[in-house]
Amino acid sequence: MIKRLCIIGVGLIGGSLARALKAVHGCEEIVGAGRSSKALDEALALGVIDRAETDLARAVAGAEVILLGVPVGAVEAVLRQIQPHLAPATIITDVGSTKGSVVAAAEAVFGCLPPRFIPGHPIAGTEKSGVGASFAELFQQRKVILTPGADADPQALETVRWIWQQAGAEVCEMSVRHHDEVLAATSHLPHVLAFTLVDTLARLEDHDDIFRYAAGGFRDFTRIASSNPQMWHDICINNRDALLLMLKRFSHELDCLAEAIATGDGANLLASFERAKAARDSYCDKHSSP
Ligand code: NAP
Repeated sequence: MIKRLCIIGVGLIGGSLARALKAVHGCEEIVGAGRSSKALDEALALGVIDRAETDLARAVAGAEVILLGVPVGAVEAVLRQIQPHLAPATIITDVGSTKGSVVAAAEAVFGCLPPRFIPGHPIAGTEKSGVGASFAELFQQRKVILTPGADADPQALETVRWIWQQAGAEVCEMSVRHHDEVLAATSHLPHVLAFTLVDTLARLEDHDDIFRYAAGGFRDFTRIASSNPQMWHDICINNRDALLLMLKRFSHELDCLAEAIATGDGANLLASFERAKAARDSYCDKHSSP
């Protein structure tokens, strides 16, 4: 059992982890910390945290584990604020969607990735934000990727692994670089496409009619365009290289498809759609939640 867990940024992800740990009595005390007392008051009222602090020095005092649940663009500033108040034994982890930027932020503040800082990323979420949208089951049977450094403290790694397992997740490890490349392809690119599609259509002259007659396919494809714009701005900027590679690759494929349509090259078009259908059907067969 964790004696005191401090969650800085009690939103969808931080709040869901707090709820999950409370459900299994995994922590004696959960301290929630953040910029605004309004969001923290809501977390207290919902019973997600036991104590709220807007002063980060007070928040991290005596914490066995600190979890950063803030947008990746805020990680370095938060680390700078807590750094003078950290006890040597304290374990730090995070949930940021980009790992290279989080490691770079830690290096900028501490001079290196501290052995007791275990970067992490739950591969689970929704398009909603804030503690009001959090729920204890969010991480059940979902993967959590940890990207520990070469000299990570084994006990810190085990503790972070244990926390996510208590929340029902399957924990795996990956290099920072591989994480950022994989997530650029499977998460960051689809979000950029969904945002761009909706924005493109919304700026067409007859957009009212377009949205009026949109059906299930449009809703399915664009659900993630309802995600938090600031959070996704941070993710795109902080995974620039890997995301740009995927965007270039995708733009090229889109150009080829446009060429096939323009020239009436039905064979090429059909081959592309058949490959995509086979790949998605196989993905859905292997993974229970499509
Ligand atoms: P969220 O619901 O918007 O929560 C973010 C939390 O961070 C809020 O408590 C917010 O509090 C605080 N915060 C925002 N900006 C801040 C700043 N500049 N300085 C300090 N605190 C700040 O977001 P989330 O969905 O939980 O995402 C949190 C992290 O999880 C992000 O790093 C994201 O990349 C990662 N993640 C998200 C998902 C997803 O699907 N949503 C999935 C996996 C990982 P106040 O604004 O009230 O101060």
